[in-house]
Amino acid sequence: MKGRIVICDYCGTPADFVDSSVVYHGHSFGMIYLCPRCGAYVGVHKGSDKPLGRLANSELRNWKKAAHAAFDPLWKYGPYRGRRNEAYRWLSEKMDTPIEFTHIGMFDVDQCRKVIRIMREERNQLWKI
Ligand SMILES: [Zn+2]
Repeated sequence: MKGRIVICDYCGTPADFVDSSVVYHGHSFGMIYLCPRCGAYVGVHKGSDKPLGRLANSELRNWKKAAHAAFDPLWKYGPYRGRRNEAYRWLSEKMDTPIEFTHIGMFDVDQCRKVIRIMREERNQLWKI
């Protein structure tokens, strides 16, 4: 697979399509798009050259981890257990973002912060018995 043209949001450089072992200290988790200038990167949908979202630097990667930690319990064992798509639909309404753009992989830092804020604000309402 050759890879697509993916431009780094941070510095405007076209990313290289390379094996993830270059950023994971020799362990490979499939292919990634890696910015040769600033080191931002993103994984791909399994078996494809389609990026999971925008390239992320370490700050954004940390925010995405925090957003996942806040949001994923909703469909992993919360009120939307086993209904991940419905949980994302709920999130898209709360964020006022079209469903096709409501994926943490696509979010920037501000959107990740918003996910965390929404989950904090909605927590009592969502988890009430
Ligand atoms: Zn870059």
